[in-house]
Amino acid sequence: MALQDSDILKALESIALPDGKSLSASGRLTGVVITAGKVTCAIAIDPPEAATMEPVRAAAEAKIRALPGVTSALVGLTADKAPSKPAPPQPRATSKPAALPGVKHIIAVASGKGGVGKSTTSCNLALGLAALGLKVGILDADIYGPSQPRLFGLRGKPRMVGPRMLEPMERYGVKVMSIGFLIDDDAAMIWRGPMVISAISQMLREVAWGELDALVVDLPPGTGDAQLTIAQQTPTSGAVIVSTPQDLALIDARRGIAMFQKVDVPLLGVIENMSSFCCPNCGHISPIFGHGGARAEAEKLGVPFLGEIPLDMNIRETSDEGRPVVATDPDSHHAKIYKDIAAKVWASLDKAAKPAPRIVIE
Ligand code: ADP
Repeated sequence: MALQDSDILKALESIALPDGKSLSASGRLTGVVITAGKVTCAIAIDPPEAATMEPVRAAAEAKIRALPGVTSALVGLTADKAPSKPAPPQPRATSKPAALPGVKHIIAVASGKGGVGKSTTSCNLALGLAALGLKVGILDADIYGPSQPRLFGLRGKPRMVGPRMLEPMERYGVKVMSIGFLIDDDAAMIWRGPMVISAISQMLREVAWGELDALVVDLPPGTGDAQLTIAQQTPTSGAVIVSTPQDLALIDARRGIAMFQKVDVPLLGVIENMSSFCCPNCGHISPIFGHGGARAEAEKLGVPFLGEIPLDMNIRETSDEGRPVVATDPDSHHAKIYKDIAAKVWASLDKAAKPAPRIVIE
């Protein structure tokens, strides 16, 4: 007989919360979705409970995975309600999170808000690093709207290797993992909420990345609680901020800079995306969003400026078609810009140990 929600509840009866209550009876289990042997669900928590509830999450996942007929299980911690006290800033990390075996550098790509081209830039940055001859992976941590499968033109489900590791997909010489491979669009809804940390931590640690020089992590957009915690719990070598030249985006970008400083993640620099528009008909270049804003701002803040990517139809089209420009047109002007940025990022990883400038948001 097909697996039912009641089977999941029954299996989780023996899992106890820190207060002794059974997980099944606690009313905290939400969003159980069962599709062809794949089970996803979430455990509702208050944000401060994240650390104490992690063993419960892991135990629940193991229990579900062991059920007959289950091919994969993904249990997340979720906090849909705002925390009772004003939450961030979270406690400063006193110890660094454990390194990821085999992975030399993790590079986080963040943006102050959505739609600035963070995912497109992450994809082409990963390809640019690969073009330097490095072994590269990309983790799509943007669980609000995973776009790396589309950008890399990848479909299908990753295979399991061993009892609990997933094999990343691979395209254009880059290893790719995304929540988009694991759950359907509808199911992805259950991850919406301020805290989605455990799903990302799993994608980081339960994927057989193998030996990598660099793992690019495409973070969820914004600088809220979730991003802060991910930055804190990921052994990141350095972070890159993508911003459009608009003022608003720059204010948001400043928040991103401050966020990484809060968790002592070195800032490798700022990339200005959609910096100017080149008319495909006449070649005229128009700074439609006020070109140069990010460079000026980065200089003012003492943060490295990594480069400007123009707003160009070709970048949008190749991204939407799963043919990213660095992979499919590596000698083009745009590919060169991304590759130059990748080279700067790679070079700056060595210097990343230096203390970053302190920035105060008024
Ligand atoms: P984010 O990850 O910040 O939400 P995306 O990378 O998904 O943003 O980009 C949003 C949209 O903008 C996509 O349709 C993408 O193709 C397009 N885009 C991103 N960068 C550029 C660019 N430099 N020129 C043209 N279109 C771009």
